[in-house]
Amino acid sequence: MNTIIKFDEPILNGSISTAKSKCGKLNCACKARRPKLHGTYYRWTGIIRGRRTTKTISVDVARECKKRIARYLKLKKKIDLLLEQALKDAPWVPVSKKGRSMKF
Ligand SMILES: [Zn+2]
Repeated sequence: MNTIIKFDEPILNGSISTAKSKCGKLNCACKARRPKLHGTYYRWTGIIRGRRTTKTISVDVARECKKRIARYLKLKKKIDLLLEQALKDAPWVPVSKKGRSMKF
């Protein structure tokens, strides 16, 4: 059997997070009693060649990353569903109990 999975490209792994921070300057607004923190800073965190990696990115890049990550998650969901079905149809499952034959 030959199945084609359709998905939109480009895709991306990882996730986007945001952070605000204080700087090193003494009399900066970020040190005030009601601190005005710097940022918002956007970060992409994911696995590159087996290593957890974080990159600081612009808001525009963050927006694009989110789109790509959403596409990847959609693709991953399709693969997860295929695997779920594959387990129902696994070679050790008796033919009468296989998912497909139960369904129809
Ligand atoms: Zn500051």
